[in-house]
Amino acid sequence: MIIAVDGHAASGKGTIAKRVAAHYNLAHLDTGSLYRSVGMGMVKRGEDIRDVALATAAALNLQAEALSEDEIRSEAAGTAASVVAAYEDVRAALKRFQRAFAENPPGGKTGAVIDGRDIGTVIWPNAEAKLFVTASLDVRTDRRVLELQQRGAILNWAEIRADLADRDERDENRPVSPLLQAEDAYLLDTTKLDIEAAVAAAIAVINARLGQP
Ligand code: C5P
Repeated sequence: MIIAVDGHAASGKGTIAKRVAAHYNLAHLDTGSLYRSVGMGMVKRGEDIRDVALATAAALNLQAEALSEDEIRSEAAGTAASVVAAYEDVRAALKRFQRAFAENPPGGKTGAVIDGRDIGTVIWPNAEAKLFVTASLDVRTDRRVLELQQRGAILNWAEIRADLADRDERDENRPVSPLLQAEDAYLLDTTKLDIEAAVAAAIAVINARLGQP
């Protein structure tokens, strides 16, 4: 069983996906971390993220464990990720990784919850349940600021808001696999929900899709 969770940056989709995976005893793959590792790995090596050939090589040789969680979660990593994520060859390399995970979830699990931007549209269009998670830009900025502050980062609210808006614009308008709500995805707007309410809403929707009480 595959559950696809797509949506905007800082919409809560990562936390929702993790909690939904625990609830149904499924594996979880945060595909943003793959793009973040490719982009941030290049930045660390002093490579130009506009170099498509180098970005493709980085995606083919992806070693997620080479970067720390703080490096991957930084705003710089999110921005680098959204640049390399526009390259078709990078997406093709990471698609193989994602499909292999879905076909063979680790830990003997019977399925997976996969979160990203194009899971329900491109990576696994036959997912048993699909969510598209969003929230207003201001609320997403508040959440990202809080998350980065908890990691000890020094930041500016307006800059983070502008970064997220740029990222939305790049993700929604790239020609390859743009961020798009799948026709059969349920739109979950978390603007007015705390995380507990958002997870409960997600589980209720998925139960309905799976035909469970
Ligand atoms: O989800 P997260 O914010 O970690 O993703 C970072 C960036 O990676 C996104 O802004 C997007 O450009 C890219 N991404 C993508 N496709 C995915 C996951 C992430 O293009 N499936």
